[in-house]
Amino acid sequence: MSETDGIVGRGMTAGAELFRGWFEELAASAGRGVPVAYVFVMGSLVELLRTFDLPVTFPEINSLQTAVRHVAHEYLNEAEDYGYSPDICGYVKADVALQLRKGAHPMGHVPPPSLAVLTNACNTYIKWAEIWERMYHVPVFTLDVPGTRADGQASQPGEPDFQADCAYVAAQLRELITLCERVSGRRFDIDRLRESLGHANAMNTGWRRVLELNRAAPAVFGALAEGTVYLGVHNAFRGTAEGERFFTDLVEELEYKVAHGIGTIDRERYRLLFIGVPCYPIFRRFTEMFSDWGGVFVNSTYLWFASGGADVPYQYDLADPLKSLAEGVLLSVRHAMDSMFFQDRALGRLLEPYGVHGAVFHAIKSCRTVSTGLADARRSLMGATGTPSLFLESDMMDKRVVSEAQMKNRIDAFFEGLATRRPVVAS
Ligand code: SF4
Repeated sequence: MSETDGIVGRGMTAGAELFRGWFEELAASAGRGVPVAYVFVMGSLVELLRTFDLPVTFPEINSLQTAVRHVAHEYLNEAEDYGYSPDICGYVKADVALQLRKGAHPMGHVPPPSLAVLTNACNTYIKWAEIWERMYHVPVFTLDVPGTRADGQASQPGEPDFQADCAYVAAQLRELITLCERVSGRRFDIDRLRESLGHANAMNTGWRRVLELNRAAPAVFGALAEGTVYLGVHNAFRGTAEGERFFTDLVEELEYKVAHGIGTIDRERYRLLFIGVPCYPIFRRFTEMFSDWGGVFVNSTYLWFASGGADVPYQYDLADPLKSLAEGVLLSVRHAMDSMFFQDRALGRLLEPYGVHGAVFHAIKSCRTVSTGLADARRSLMGATGTPSLFLESDMMDKRVVSEAQMKNRIDAFFEGLATRRPVVAS
């Protein structure tokens, strides 16, 4: 028995267990006919929905799981045969096929929605929810979150524009509460919201600490390999005691790894940033093509925007939960949007603290929200900092446009270029 047994790797084990339990609970909800809310990762509002005992499901996570489990093409083909264009977001098409299959999913059974809650963080969310509206005639609530007009020009707490935006969000949240009361048949309980926000505060602290701990060399987790599991727990269990416990334990695990110099890969040589959405159809192989060269992703914009902007250092004020929820949602969702549209400057600020050697941009066919502008962001980052970078194009769902051999050639050439620029550090 190793002395690390029981600590190292327990985050991944616990994350997998939590997700198995989550899918089982969803299937049980379907069996009991309880109302279920469909929500999205950027502005899920689960802290509020939980107070009405509404089980939530994340269609984006359900969809990406079909790709990780190598069956996404079956779902995509079914949706395309039904009439959806090959060009639109693969997550939407996988979900359409899931609905056509009456919720049959490789991890269990996904119940139909009784309510859909979304934000304007991605325009696809709005069209996607209209599909459920047509299929099931369920109410759709769209929270309009005022975005940033330009990088560095976001209004800040205390400023009149910020207060006006906050009041606008708070008024919409009050409408959502009324809708949730109607759908769930339960009265709003502000003490339950307080409790949920308390757990969310602890998770936010944990999430930011996890990201910060990867400044260590060697890196203690891969921003894609393990980071995506941590991200899933952060989204699905936000505002819960289980989520808080998971992050408390995870921070302990990663601090242990930092203290003992335990890296996530055996021989770390290159520290990389990942920009975009992962390549789920070959998820494991994708990271291997980097780790085989000693490359590790130390941070990723995905961990920013797909967590709904949870890397923003915001703590809900439990003395004024509703106002504070509005403020937190405004700050975090706005940050998530900025992480997709203005990421080059934020990336530049990571280079030194994370000891970055290169940046990998992954543009994907079916997500224009994240991929549009990636080439410009790359040029901007390279122009401002001279950071070596690699630009890959594939998809997060559709294996028909993922060419592993071509990708490997480009990745190999990237590392050969990196090797000529810096002395290789043997760990
Ligand atoms: S952000 Fe991209 S992947 Fe997510 S729903 Fe929007 S278009 Fe699809």
